[in-house]
Amino acid sequence: MSLDNNSKHSPIPYGRQHITDDDVRVVIEALRSDFLTQGPQIAAFEKKFAEYIGCTYAVAVSNGTAALHLAAMALNVNKGDKVITTPITFAASANCVRYCGGDVLFADIDAEHYCIDINQVEAILKNEKNVKGIIPVDFAGYPVNMEALRTLADAYGCWIIEDACHAPGAWFTNTKGQKQLAGNGVYADIGIFSFHPVKHIATGEGGMITTNNKALYDRLCLLRTHGITRNPEVLHENHGGWYYEMQELGYNYRITDFQCALGLSQLNRADSGLKRRSEIAETYNKAFAHTSIITPKTQADMFHAYHLYVIQTNDRLGLYNHLREKQIFAQVHYIPVHTMPYYRELGNKKGDCPVAEAYYEKCLSLPMYPTLTNEEQQYVIDTILAYISK
Ligand SMILES: *Cc1c(COP(=O)(O)O)cnc(C)c1O
Repeated sequence: MSLDNNSKHSPIPYGRQHITDDDVRVVIEALRSDFLTQGPQIAAFEKKFAEYIGCTYAVAVSNGTAALHLAAMALNVNKGDKVITTPITFAASANCVRYCGGDVLFADIDAEHYCIDINQVEAILKNEKNVKGIIPVDFAGYPVNMEALRTLADAYGCWIIEDACHAPGAWFTNTKGQKQLAGNGVYADIGIFSFHPVKHIATGEGGMITTNNKALYDRLCLLRTHGITRNPEVLHENHGGWYYEMQELGYNYRITDFQCALGLSQLNRADSGLKRRSEIAETYNKAFAHTSIITPKTQADMFHAYHLYVIQTNDRLGLYNHLREKQIFAQVHYIPVHTMPYYRELGNKKGDCPVAEAYYEKCLSLPMYPTLTNEEQQYVIDTILAYISK
């Protein structure tokens, strides 16, 4: 049987980077240039990324987690401050609050789109004092309606950090009928992105912070590089050309020039990558339409970026193991963060977010990346259909 012939396929992961000859060339050029870091590629990548996302300012950093940490610092998260996020995310979305000494409150997800449920956020805001901010996540590439969340956040004096790691290029439509790109800073105070190889744009490690707020932008730039500035307008003293001041406790969260050269090159192909992801999603949607598998929800007035293609399936463990035997490496996104031992020790427990926990029991992320071939995708589909009809 052809399905059992594993040898004709190399392993199929759930996500992977796409590196072209052009990408390799620009990285080599950057390596041979005068700057390995703190050079012109960084500003060029920031400018191009800001244009792509439709925001005013972008700050490139060493990874998405550093982006979250600096965002939380710039918004002054302190000991005892409470911040709401979703349990269905990578742990970093919550951890950034802990880095600053704040407390994380987990709001359950919506059963339809698996992102934070705005009604659950509102319920928490009604009951808790000292909630300073909300960190929604555009999970899998589904764009959270930031306009609605902004209205709620304003009613309680909260800021918003949009974790858009899964969603560069995704958009929703606001009440005026305008497209609003994930991370564009129109409603959220700050957006953050990651350039880890499984994400849309890969730089190895890398991240970006986006905002339309000049004061936040200045603070983020300062914090990215130790809290050190040379800007004559803000120096307390000035002893000469060598002089700089460390004005607050920052970090070295810089990215390199050769990574930004790669990022720029990848950004040029971002739209074709999104188009291919949409095609792959369409093909999966059709293949599973009349089966027990639940496929991701999307709507005509939004654009899903499909970082992940997540299905809900009974017997998830059986399917996961069967796919592995066939060299298909599906993945689970995510184990609910509030059930992690670290967060349990802080007082969270199973049962706190029942919708997220039920989602976790059945979720599975299928291979989704632009270089997945039609033939490989058909092999994935055939393998799944054969398994579930057993
Ligand atoms: C990848 C990811 C991060 C962290 O990004 P790194 O670059 O790996 O540090 C944060 N949040 C979400 C939702 C992510 O997917």
